[in-house]
Amino acid sequence: MSYFDFQTNESFFVNGQAPKYKTYTLRNYHKIPQIRSLPEDIRFAIEVVGNVLPFKANNYVVEELIDWDNIPDDPIFQLTFPQKTMLKPHHFNQMAEVIRYGGSPAEIRETANDIRMQLNPHPAGQLEENTPKLGCEAIPGMQHKYQETALFFPGQGQTCHAYCTFCFRWPQFVGIDELKIAGKEAEQLVGYLRENPQVTDILFTGGDPMVMKTRVLASYIEPLLEAGLPNLRNIRIGTKSLAYWPYKFVTDRDSGEMLDLMKRVTDSGIHLAIMAHYSHPVELETDINREAVHRIRSTGAQIRTQSPLLRHINDNSDTWSEMWREQVKQGMIPYYMFIVRDTGARHHFDIPLDEAWKIFRGAYQQVSGIARTVRGPSMSAGPGKVQVLGVSEVAGEEVYVLRFLQGRNPDWVARPFFAKYDPEAVWLDDLEPAFGEEQFFFEDEYAVLSNGNGHNADEFRFLDN
Ligand SMILES: *Cc1c(COP(=O)(O)O)cnc(C)c1O
Ligand code: SF4
Repeated sequence: MSYFDFQTNESFFVNGQAPKYKTYTLRNYHKIPQIRSLPEDIRFAIEVVGNVLPFKANNYVVEELIDWDNIPDDPIFQLTFPQKTMLKPHHFNQMAEVIRYGGSPAEIRETANDIRMQLNPHPAGQLEENTPKLGCEAIPGMQHKYQETALFFPGQGQTCHAYCTFCFRWPQFVGIDELKIAGKEAEQLVGYLRENPQVTDILFTGGDPMVMKTRVLASYIEPLLEAGLPNLRNIRIGTKSLAYWPYKFVTDRDSGEMLDLMKRVTDSGIHLAIMAHYSHPVELETDINREAVHRIRSTGAQIRTQSPLLRHINDNSDTWSEMWREQVKQGMIPYYMFIVRDTGARHHFDIPLDEAWKIFRGAYQQVSGIARTVRGPSMSAGPGKVQVLGVSEVAGEEVYVLRFLQGRNPDWVARPFFAKYDPEAVWLDDLEPAFGEEQFFFEDEYAVLSNGNGHNADEFRFLDN
């Protein structure tokens, strides 16, 4: 009997039943009635691009979030359904041709892999830079880059309730024997936290850890509570489930147990932070989202919000200020605005740093100090999280003013530095030091820290979940 069972709320039931999660992928999206009435070119683009980039939607996204009278502009349609310009024209045509002549599944797969190889800017191996070790054994499910916070990728949480089209984490599917694998990983996690007393935060990320059943998530979290680690202050869970499947916390069969688990964390004196990924105000406005937020907060957990800034989805100040205001209204804490990283379809989503800063500033100016807990726009780059503070003129030169919010070396944090103004720059890599300097202040040290692995190696699996 769960402490939260009394909250089971039948007003969210459909025909007397808890809403059932149903996915839409390339295999069955044709069956969505609203899809059938879309123009042929939009449907063909879904087929072509969906064979290359990840595509998964679900019944909540399709029925509650997307406004089908506003296609193709609808932001959630853009966020979850493949769009023609996500591929460069020559890649699009390459796949379109195979599909038009009725290529076999093997041919389609081969073509897709060929295109993906050209898109993926971070071949396997670059992750190793931040993979921590326990004794001399690497822990593949972990990444530790910033002193206080270790990331943990539970093996069972490597998928999501729907896929964001800008995300480049190719989903890995759940294997059998879940609990056994989880048990081994949890042991390593506890061992690592014991040996590294500087770590105060463990951040569960993925994919989306909230795709796990409560008992699986519990099998990771309970050992942490039982271990009584004096250094562990904050457990964070990155998730898009509040936007993509809020029933998780309200009507799903184990929703009461999930809330129980959260309460056990907060009762133990550890801060539980849900790092919620919201990309657009629409995701906040459903009753089921509000209820999920309310229930999570009633466990004593805090919800902090973050999202990348994305062309076609949330590329204006009003969208962000509305989002932050509504989040605060529901009791959440705006946390980060990210600049979209180098994903397979970056050209489609890119916003130059100058414009990103203007959008941030325009939104920040419209909200009270209560919502100004948000920081951004920020790039999660190899050396750290770099915030664009703005464009300014110093000694007659137009420059970007930047600072680290997180650094591979904590000493870099909160020290302003300058780059030449370039209206087209979209990432740290595109920038050059201002005032004729040869390099940025951190570069020598970073080269040593990253073991000569190049300056672009970063945690591409970590996005915002
Ligand atoms: C963003 C990030 C974190 C968390 O940073 P906070 O600023 O504490 O939220 C931890 N590890 C990595 C690799 C990150 O990118
Ligand atoms: S951004 Fe998050 S929710 Fe979206 S597909 Fe990537 S990991 Fe999943």
